[in-house]
Amino acid sequence: MTQQVSSQANSVRARKVLALIENSVSNKTALANIRDKAEDPFRILISTILSARTRDQVTEKVSDMLFSKYPDADSLAKANFSSVAKIVRPVNFYKGKTKKIIGASKLIVSKYRGVVPRTYEELLELPGVGRKTAGCVLVYGYKVSAIPVDVHVHRISNRIGLVKTKKPEDTEIALRELYDEKDWLAVNELFVSFGQTICLPVNPRCEICPVNFLCNYYAAKVN
Ligand code: SF4
Repeated sequence: MTQQVSSQANSVRARKVLALIENSVSNKTALANIRDKAEDPFRILISTILSARTRDQVTEKVSDMLFSKYPDADSLAKANFSSVAKIVRPVNFYKGKTKKIIGASKLIVSKYRGVVPRTYEELLELPGVGRKTAGCVLVYGYKVSAIPVDVHVHRISNRIGLVKTKKPEDTEIALRELYDEKDWLAVNELFVSFGQTICLPVNPRCEICPVNFLCNYYAAKVN
């Protein structure tokens, strides 16, 4: 159950955190790179499915190779399993992901005439698509306000103490209440960059962190 530390003060703190993170990160995530190469919801969808438990550099490289051969849902829907699996082999769980990306492409072609849908409800019907992936398609593919919560967003929000949640779904609900909708588009990209460089999963770099003076985890560590 969500135990949100909800208050006006926490909203102010959340906005400060976002601004400080924005000023401190310069690395670009795989999804941001893929979005910047081609504003294409299909590519965001497929890359996000491929990215689960896989390093960003691998996701990006494999995505580029895949899209050079299968640039859209039509072509990927018609592809055979072993040809696709051969390309995506470097990502973890590549066999299952191959099945999912071909399956999702088939449904996009048969039900949506080759155009990736742009609502949570429709996206969640696609194979391999959970709430985080659907949110990424909305944010990175369509610039529709949403807060996709992955492991970085969930961990950082809880460490700082913006939310107190066990599950990513609850983090999403809590963050949507904390941030104004105009900030939602930025949250995933900034938190993921921050989580890859400063608030690392293990041994976070608290001493050089620009938000350490606002962070509960750091306060507990130094007191
Ligand atoms: S102070 Fe440490 S735990 Fe807190 S946000 Fe910064 S890096 Fe993460």
